[in-house]
Amino acid sequence: MPRLLQSLTIGIITFGMVGTGTAFAGVDSGITWLGHASFRLERKHTVVYLDPWQIAGEPHDADVVLITHPHFDHLSSSDIGRVAKGGTVLVGPPDCLKGLTGTLHPVKPGDHLQLDGVSVDVVPAYNTTTAYHPKANGWVGYIVDLGGPRIYHAGDTDVIPEMSSFKVDVALLPVGGTYTMTADQAAMAASILDPKLAIPMHYGSVVGSAADAQRFKESCGSIPVTILPRRSR
Ligand SMILES: [Zn+2]
Repeated sequence: MPRLLQSLTIGIITFGMVGTGTAFAGVDSGITWLGHASFRLERKHTVVYLDPWQIAGEPHDADVVLITHPHFDHLSSSDIGRVAKGGTVLVGPPDCLKGLTGTLHPVKPGDHLQLDGVSVDVVPAYNTTTAYHPKANGWVGYIVDLGGPRIYHAGDTDVIPEMSSFKVDVALLPVGGTYTMTADQAAMAASILDPKLAIPMHYGSVVGSAADAQRFKESCGSIPVTILPRRSR
């Protein structure tokens, strides 16, 4: 087979694998749900926490901490202190970083950060019909890429038109209602985002229940949903 044709064929096979999702088999590996909106991501020795809250112990293993907004269940300086180590980069909207010390990285929706081993797209997060999270506050969600799947943490948000432009492989979506999307609205968000995997969050503590996570799973149709067990870390 001529070399060009051979490489073309390999290219098509590779592309086919991506299309069927096998390129990200075990797409949820390295994603740990710590309860509510709190997650730990790990890949190739790089550790990222999102909205660390009610952290057990003092792991001190965070390379990067991403904060979506300053409400108490998302921004906790004591929990950041439990996960931070020397050199941890703290990322968030400016009103989240007041009072924190260390390597601070203020962000706004639309920003892109290239940190050591971590690429981050900063995306908007806001309510469309309530005033808990006004768009004008500049609070955010994140699309995190550690060299594997693009993992979207929605923050506290409703379904917003910007979602149609997000390119994500895994979607961490709030399902608890009141302050964020309900389970049914989150399923609508999943259908817009069309991820390879959706994971419910923002239930089981402040608002929402396991029944909301289950309803989300049942409402997502053909989009795979994993309800992660809550782990202490
Ligand atoms: Zn909030």
